[in-house]
This record gives sequence, C-alpha cells and structure tokens, in this order.
Amino acid sequence: MVELLKGNLLKNAPLDQHTTFRIGGKADLFFVPEDEEDLKKGLSYCYEKEIPWFILGNGSNLLVSDDGIEGMVIHLDHSLFKKITFEDSQIRAGAGVKTAVLLRETLENGFGGIEFLGAIPGTMGGAFYMNAGTYLGEISSVVKEIKILDESLNTKWLSKEELDYRYRHSLFQEKPWVILEGKLNLPRAEKISAQLKVHEILERRKKTQPLGVASAGSAFKNPPSRSAWQLIDAAGLRGFSIGDAAVSDVHANFLINKNSASAKEVLTLMRFIQKTVLEKTGILLEPEIKLVGRWKENFLTKPCEVGK
Ligand SMILES: Cc1cc2nc3c(=O)[nH]c(=O)nc-3n(C[C@H](O)[C@H](O)[C@H](O)COP(=O)(O)OP(=O)(O)OC[C@H]3O[C@@H](n4cnc5c(N)ncnc54)[C@H](O)[C@@H]3O)c2cc1C
Repeated sequence: MVELLKGNLLKNAPLDQHTTFRIGGKADLFFVPEDEEDLKKGLSYCYEKEIPWFILGNGSNLLVSDDGIEGMVIHLDHSLFKKITFEDSQIRAGAGVKTAVLLRETLENGFGGIEFLGAIPGTMGGAFYMNAGTYLGEISSVVKEIKILDESLNTKWLSKEELDYRYRHSLFQEKPWVILEGKLNLPRAEKISAQLKVHEILERRKKTQPLGVASAGSAFKNPPSRSAWQLIDAAGLRGFSIGDAAVSDVHANFLINKNSASAKEVLTLMRFIQKTVLEKTGILLEPEIKLVGRWKENFLTKPCEVGK
C-alpha cells in the first residue's frame, strides 16, 4: 500500500530541522503527499494499520519530544497545498501556504485585514488550527469557510460559525481532521497603509521579542485579563534557565533554545514556571505550545519541581 504513495516517504526523519525550536527526535515515517488523493492514501494506510498520524505545519508552535513522534508525520509542503487564488474579495489559501507569503500576495493585490500575520511564522493550516493572532486581530475574524478532510476521508467545507473559534482555540484542536484550505473575506486596503501596519508590528516585535533565537513564540496562553509574561516576570523567572532552555530576557513568555536544549529541558522549565506562578498567584498557566510525540509524563495537570 505505501508503495502506491506518490509523494516522498522517509523513515526515521529528524524533526529538529522542522521546528522553530530546533528541537525534536525522529518521526517513524515522514510523508509529503503530492496531492489530496495521495494524502487520502497515506491516511487510509494509517487507519488500516492503526498507525497514528500527525500534521506538521511550519513547526512554529510545537515542542516535539526527544523520543520523536510515533507513526506518520504528514507535511503539506507540496505546491498543490500552497495555492493562493483571488476571487473578488474572497481569497483562497492552501494549508501549506506560509503566512508571510499570503500576507505579501494580499498586499500586492490590494487587500488588507491580515497584517498581523507579519508576526506569525507559520503556515495557514497552523494559523487556522491555532486561531493565530496578535493585538491587531486573529485569523478567525477573516475566515469564511475551511475545507477539511475528516476521519472518514471525506472532504467538506465548514463555515466559520461551525469552528468554535475562541482565543487560540478552534474545533480542529478536538478533531482528527486535516485542514486543506481556507476561504478568507478580506477588506480592500491601500497598499501603503497596509504595509505601514506590517512595519509597525515588525518594529514592535523587534523591541519586545527575542529575534534570531530558536523558540516557539509564546509558551503559555494569557489567562483571562492577565498577561502570561507579566506573571512569569513577577515570579522572578525572567532569564531563568535549565540547561540550554531559558526564559527569554526580552519577553518572559518566550522560552528559547540557547544552543542544544533538549525537549525534556524545555518541558521541565515549563513545569517549573507553572509551579512557581501557581504558588505565587493561584493561576495555572495553560500551554499555548503544543507538546507532541512520545512523552512519558502528564505535563498539563502536574506542574512540578525542577528535576522531578
Ligand atoms: C518567533 C515566533 C513568534 C510567534 N508569534 C505568534 C503570535 O504573535 N501569535 C500567534 O498566534 N502565534 C505566534 N507564534 C506561534 C505560531 O507561529 C503559530 O501558532 C502558528 O499559527 C503555528 O503554525 P505552524 O504552521 O507553524 O503550525 P505547527 O506549529 O506546525 O502546528 C501547530 C498545530 O497545528 C496543527 N496543524 C498545522 N497544520 C495543520 C493542518 N493542515 N491540518 C490540521 N492540523 C494542522 C498541528 O498538527 C499542530 O497541532 C509565534 C511563533 C514564533 C516562533
């Protein structure tokens, strides 16, 4: 059956080169399907053999275990998943399109409304899944419909209203679906004023975020009416490190890989931050970063001490 797959299929593929943290063990199988049919064949192979599968975008919101990911990691990196089309005020973008590419194309074509994507180094699949956004807006505010492949390998379009969009949350986070593409409704915008907004967000990012270092963006979600970075800062953890995993000096909610941090070091740091902030404020920080792969411990419910 795998012989019938047209796309590239690798065994024991290292994942550190596919994550912005530059961390992660190997994927048992790494598959880059050539088109939707090929993707379906790959998934039906997984279902038939009871092999777990995972969709990897740009790996910019992931902490992949040092022991890698069991089963098949699927990467929608073929050009057929990276199409962008303009139909009047409606834009269609494939799941594999990089956020920066879509932003550039929309500005070129006289549209605005997604300038915030300038700060988000992922794919559109990842943005739809995470409901990615910044203080300038979030992707759900411009989503019209999203095309998915469901667990029975049927494709269907779902309207934004069906997707339970909230802060960094979507229905996709609860379903074994593959996001294939999305339709966005974008307002017309003067290229210059849209470019200025992008410039503003990039300048702000330069001042407030660690640049040029390996990270996965904000590690924790902001609790209601609070900022995760302020809670971490007030707990005295700015700059705190475990091995090569550190709380950034520039932005206390960014964890960075200083050189050769392991996933275990980052995880231990996250647990220590949770425990310290919980003790000081009674607030349990919820990770925004997705932990994927072969983890031995239950991290979410058990913040613990360093080394335990
Ligand atoms: C420097 C930096 C700054 C950041 N700033 C921001 C910010 O300002 N705002 C913000 O919201 N985020 C930010 N992030 C986090 C990250 O860029 C976003 O969460 C982004 O949307 C993740 O996209 P991705 O393609 O990298 O997804 P990945 O990290 O690869 O995956 C994230 C999740 O999406 C799922 N997924 C991806 N594609 C698909 C698909 N086609 N079908 C089904 N599931 C899919 C994956 O399975 C995984 O569960 C930042 C990250 C970095 C490194």
